[in-house]
Amino acid sequence: MEKPLKSWENLPLPQEELEKRKEKLQKVFEEMLTILGFDWKRDPNMVETPKRMAKMVLELTEGNFSPMPSITTFDITQMGEEGNIPVFVGPIEIKSLCSHHFLPIVGRVYFEYLPTSKVLGLSKIPRIIKWLARRPMIQELFTKQIVKTFKKLLPDLKGVAVYVKAKHMCMTVRGVNESQAYMITEAFDGIYGEREDLRANFLRKIKE
Ligand SMILES: [Zn+2]
Repeated sequence: MEKPLKSWENLPLPQEELEKRKEKLQKVFEEMLTILGFDWKRDPNMVETPKRMAKMVLELTEGNFSPMPSITTFDITQMGEEGNIPVFVGPIEIKSLCSHHFLPIVGRVYFEYLPTSKVLGLSKIPRIIKWLARRPMIQELFTKQIVKTFKKLLPDLKGVAVYVKAKHMCMTVRGVNESQAYMITEAFDGIYGEREDLRANFLRKIKE
């Protein structure tokens, strides 16, 4: 057995290990339906449910067990343009799970960074953010994790701004039953923490 992970951590696993986990999870969900008192083996709508649930749980936690999407960076110093143009991307759709209830979180991320010597391939930004989302999360931490990840990928960037707006099903379908409420979190790092004009410029681009 591998070392247990924190919900936000990543440890890529081979397909073979994931298949083993799927089988074990299937058994657990079979037991769960049995405990709940369902005759799932003879219910045509439920007979395959444990298998589907096992597959679903692995899909929703993919970001924990798959490697980070590969990135491409481009040197911009040749053009004499370094560090002047903020790169904004959004909305980026995210689907996640809350680590408290294991219920879905569905939302959007808006991201911007101010590069220095290198820029990232554009499609890599949504790919990395979606990969970070595919694990049980609390939104506050996820927002910070986006900042941390991009600072690591581009160590000389001048700053990162992140805005996350999401609906948490644990609040929508149970408990307080609030279906219209969103959770919004922001993070401003580096030059975005220092400059109000850059923050305002970033937030103006967000159409919600
Ligand atoms: Zn929750």
